[in-house]
Amino acid sequence: MNQRVEPQKGVLYLVGTPIGHLGDLSPRAQSLLKEVSFIACEDTRHSGHLLKSLGAKGRRISFHKHNTNSKLPQLLEILKQGQNTLALISDAGLPGISDPGEILVSKAKEAGHEVICIPGPCAATTALVSSGLPCERFCFEGFLPTKGKLRKERLSELAIDMRTVVLYESPHRLIQLLTELEQLCGKDRPLQVARELTKRHEEQVGPNIGAAIKHFLTNKPLGEFTLVLGGKPKINSTCLKPDEEWIQELNSLMSEGMSASEAARQLAQQTGQSRRFLYGLLHKGARNQND
Ligand code: SAM
Repeated sequence: MNQRVEPQKGVLYLVGTPIGHLGDLSPRAQSLLKEVSFIACEDTRHSGHLLKSLGAKGRRISFHKHNTNSKLPQLLEILKQGQNTLALISDAGLPGISDPGEILVSKAKEAGHEVICIPGPCAATTALVSSGLPCERFCFEGFLPTKGKLRKERLSELAIDMRTVVLYESPHRLIQLLTELEQLCGKDRPLQVARELTKRHEEQVGPNIGAAIKHFLTNKPLGEFTLVLGGKPKINSTCLKPDEEWIQELNSLMSEGMSASEAARQLAQQTGQSRRFLYGLLHKGARNQND
């Protein structure tokens, strides 16, 4: 294969680094990191171990979400002068995926510089392909806003997405997120929680939201987590059930403490049936009882 000589001056290299297993750093990434004159790192101390083990001598420049604006000019100047070579890495995985990088890439391209990614591990795609859920169409949500209206909006949007949805979550918020997902999608919605991917204690917990909640209520969430949520089921033959069966399912949700409108909303989200239709059935049921 005819390959370009690298690193080249004036090019921004984005380099994927391991999300756990150090053996996942590709030979190409290793040789590039050894060769470049500057390495922008999210955390110079954290990446220091990896870079030292490679014998990388390039100068490390700290570049993270709190100093992005102040460091951008320095990094763009390195590219502009064209006398040195520059790579960007994050603490783990692909820079730009829930990590700093996006702004540097867009500014570098805006200024006419070439950007080349040396691909590597990414928790989102690693969890997705090993989840057993549909990969043909998927949506990456990363970290949700931690609270408030914005979080509620994003959760409601993703609950009705028909594509598989990939989320990142911290261990101390995992149970809260699972509980919110259960309220919106129902306990039977397919879900795989990938924990500690590529590491010694790697595991997948599923097959649905209810099972994941049960597991993590007895096994304290520890480590790093990526969630892969099955899409909202298409309106399907289950919608052709007789009214009595719908009413029975609604009554069963209401017996768990939900109001009529909450039960209608949840069942609608789980099955694809119309919420208005379901809510109407409850009133019809009540009317029939009174007749
Ligand atoms: N840039 C990274 C990537 O390409 O995947 C993601 C960085 S983001 C700041 C870190 C989050 O990714 C973690 O909180 C976790 O949700 C997810 N993650 C990273 N490593 C993981 C692993 N080994 N197993 C499961 N999830 C992981």
